[in-house]
Amino acid sequence: ILPSPFLDPGTHASANNLGILQLRRDQLIPAVLAPEADSDYAEGKVENTRFGSFPHSTLVNQPWGTQILASLVDTGSRGKSKKRKRDAKDEAGETAKRDTQEAKKDIATAAAASSGFAHLVPPTPETWTLSLPHRTQVVYTPDYSYILQRLRVRPGDHIIEAGAGSGSFTHASVRAVFNGYPGQEETSNGAEEADEEAVGLTKKKKRTKRLGGVYSFEYHEPRARQLQVEITEHGLDPLVTVTHRDVYGHGFCLDDNDSPDADAIFLDLPAPWQALKHLTRSPPSTAALTSVASSSDPSTPSPSETPSSSSQPFRSPLNPHKAVRICTFSPCIEQVTKTVSALRTLGWLEIDMVEIAAKRLDVRRERVGLAEEGVRGGNASAASVQEAVQRLRDVEGRAAVFHSLQKEKQEEVMRRAEAKKRGEKIVDKGGKGKSAENVPPSKSDRLERTKKEFESRTLFKEGRLVHRTEPELKTHTSYLVFAVLPREWSEEDEEMARRRWGGKS
Ligand code: SAM
Repeated sequence: ILPSPFLDPGTHASANNLGILQLRRDQLIPAVLAPEADSDYAEGKVENTRFGSFPHSTLVNQPWGTQILASLVDTGSRGKSKKRKRDAKDEAGETAKRDTQEAKKDIATAAAASSGFAHLVPPTPETWTLSLPHRTQVVYTPDYSYILQRLRVRPGDHIIEAGAGSGSFTHASVRAVFNGYPGQEETSNGAEEADEEAVGLTKKKKRTKRLGGVYSFEYHEPRARQLQVEITEHGLDPLVTVTHRDVYGHGFCLDDNDSPDADAIFLDLPAPWQALKHLTRSPPSTAALTSVASSSDPSTPSPSETPSSSSQPFRSPLNPHKAVRICTFSPCIEQVTKTVSALRTLGWLEIDMVEIAAKRLDVRRERVGLAEEGVRGGNASAASVQEAVQRLRDVEGRAAVFHSLQKEKQEEVMRRAEAKKRGEKIVDKGGKGKSAENVPPSKSDRLERTKKEFESRTLFKEGRLVHRTEPELKTHTSYLVFAVLPREWSEEDEEMARRRWGGKS
């Protein structure tokens, strides 16, 4: 298994792997990098953007983070390159090599002549969310980071998600659960055993690592198929199971009725309450099903279509050994009410609703001089106007001090002239009969002056530290409902506990 660039990007971009071209902070282009010149053109595959053209040959094998200059790849030069490439294919050995080198030189020259550039960055769930081809509304980073944290998802966990839509949440959750690829379940001491050892309960023994997994369900077939293609292209195949399924009617077990053994569930569905009857530990009672159905709309399947009466034997999709956490994502409060009611009926606890209102704070240093120029030009932003006004106030304050010092000095000159006229001896404030202007500044005065000069220069160089809230942040504002389903406690569990703890709690 090749490592996924999402989980282990390495240091360089490589052919046949996903790379992200970042044009601006929120303008990103994903591209599976083609191996050298796989088209008729010498440049090979090219990403054409409004900042210029980026042939894949200029991206492959570059270290992540490299700034890539755009190449001038126009139709004319493409025609020439195409011919040259064809000729190069026909001719053997040296000639072909020389032609390819020439084509490469063309690209380099064009790159140097062009002004556009982009950064080549590795794929992450965050960059993928900003660049993925949208087939539906997607869950954005501020929401999914909070959701995964509240669901307490950690390496080795299994997550159910429905509907999978464009796969934004899928990529974030696979990173959260990743604990190695299949075949890497090497035995190790689990954290639980370490705890048990600490209290002297078990002897040191080895245990197989539980690999993480994401179980994605999507009922729109083209979307399910496209997600499968992307998961394969991104090397996430062994960790994500995509199932084309209507989860309202058919639940969350896999095609062979295997259980995903889920520790956490995320439902981004129009009617999550219709799916909840499949997320139980044992078949729900008819009374519970009738209650859930009566709080739903008429499209809710009747209890006769529910899991307890389906042809498959009941199988819980949940991990029987752990409390399971759920999050549902709904834009309307009416959907929330129905979901909460169904959760209560089916025994979920700690039900809680949250709305994320994320705002990014842009913190930067601003050059005071520039802000003032903005005011003069009449096009400064509100914040820079405020800053310039403050700066002018500072200047005015300093001018007032300067003028009062000037006045004092003039008065002193007048006083001396009057004294001289009267033939009086002039005594300086220092009382030594010397002119104050001729007294050299003391060491502490000199230090103070240097410090002030340094501070004013530093302030000018670095600018004042300012922050602004971004007016807009892409986020699908929805209500998040969280709940916990406690683990079941059987006679067997109690017996085991009694044996382990010897009746002590
Ligand atoms: N969470 C996804 C993401 O981050 O990209 C977006 C999910 S999108 C808003 C909702 C998806 O739920 C749609 O793709 C829709 O086809 C799917 N869906 C709706 N009803 C469904 C059902 N009964 N079973 C499975 N999927 C369903």
